[in-house]
Amino acid sequence: MPPVRVRFAPSPTGFFHIGSARTALFNWLYARHTGGVFVLRIEDTDKERNSEQFYNLIYDALTWLGLGWDEGPRVGGAHGPYLQSERAGIYREYLEKLKATGRTYEKDGAIYFRLLGERSEVFDEHRQKTVTKVQAAPTVIDDLIRGRVERVEDEDFVIVRSDGNPVFHFVNVVDDITMQISHVIRGEDHLSNTSKHVELFKALGAPVPQFAHIPLILKQNGPGKMSKRDQGALVEEYQKRGYLPEALVNFLALLGWNPGDDREKLPIAEIIRLFDLPGVNQSNARFDDKKLAHMNMVYLLELPADRFMALAKDYFARHPAVPALQDEAYFREVMLLAQPKLKGLEELPAYTAYFFTEDYPIDEKVKAKVLAKGDPKARLAELIAALPAMDFSSDAAVEEGIKALAAKNNLGFGDYQAVARLAVSGTNVGPSITGMFRVLGRDRVGKRLERFLAAV
Ligand code: GLU
Repeated sequence: MPPVRVRFAPSPTGFFHIGSARTALFNWLYARHTGGVFVLRIEDTDKERNSEQFYNLIYDALTWLGLGWDEGPRVGGAHGPYLQSERAGIYREYLEKLKATGRTYEKDGAIYFRLLGERSEVFDEHRQKTVTKVQAAPTVIDDLIRGRVERVEDEDFVIVRSDGNPVFHFVNVVDDITMQISHVIRGEDHLSNTSKHVELFKALGAPVPQFAHIPLILKQNGPGKMSKRDQGALVEEYQKRGYLPEALVNFLALLGWNPGDDREKLPIAEIIRLFDLPGVNQSNARFDDKKLAHMNMVYLLELPADRFMALAKDYFARHPAVPALQDEAYFREVMLLAQPKLKGLEELPAYTAYFFTEDYPIDEKVKAKVLAKGDPKARLAELIAALPAMDFSSDAAVEEGIKALAAKNNLGFGDYQAVARLAVSGTNVGPSITGMFRVLGRDRVGKRLERFLAAV
């Protein structure tokens, strides 16, 4: 068996689709699983559409996802260059090789690949012209995911356009030959091209790689394939929203593959260990943004404090609408209080805003509800009076302090909780009141209670 060499071959189109990310991931996983080589090749033959930015989008998305490539742009390798736009000489060389086999001919300025088989002229109703049909033997593809697929090519096809540019089928195959690709793992939308590719491999006397066509990702609602216009289709959205790349990778791995049991959260090392091509489903996978959000939440919850802190800082730095960080230790305490309550990093600014400003809004609806339970002035005054003696060193100590106050006045913890929460945060959702008190500290809590008392 030749060594495993796989490639991810995106075109720089200006966006990085979730489906591309999954194709890249499956290639990367297969390379890591087998100890093979993961090649990145950029299919940039459509020169007008490509810009520097579009290339960077690909490199950045792969890097963010943790899918490092062993050969390709930026890292180099023995089979380069890795941009198709820099490989014109290689395509010319292979065109000469193909010409030498007698399997090409020129017509109307374009160069065609000649299929083998009986020929006849047929009038094509659809195209309203006479075309040459070839009775060729079916091409057999033993697809590692789809199984045996047979396709019949019945017309010669263009490999170099009249403007001199070689077409996708030709450059794709030449690159796979020269880069010694052993396994072509790509989206099922390319299955219809594969018979052409196989015929080109054979005509060039090159070994035909193994093919593995991955099922499509269906859009969340309704029929059809997920397109770039569908919500949640672009990788950069998740990056901007502060999703954890490892959560997205775990989610993508499960779009068409499973570990053989019902586990969902799997460390990447475990996915690498278990991943294999026959394990990929034949049926299409449906995108589910709730599942992705849930996966992200699970990862967030289990993230070590230091990594969470680094991500939170990065997120705040990218969202300057949020008040500037004051004291580092205080910031850390606020973040640790929020971490177990978040679904995603994007909730952080709103969830923690009142920790960083005295100018936080009071939710009028919540206030009306609290006031409806009775005049809170007495409770507020009692709390303020009890603060100096209260122990703020832990959540449990704060709880004891409030409970002792309640007991003294023949009341319950709840009689103080809602009003205190409203006064110090302006709302009725958030971390536990005891955690809030501890982190805000005696002085801030005191000032906030007093200000609210004066205004109520
Ligand atoms: N450039 C092609 C695409 O983006 C890749 C085809 C292939 O993987 O062979 O769909």
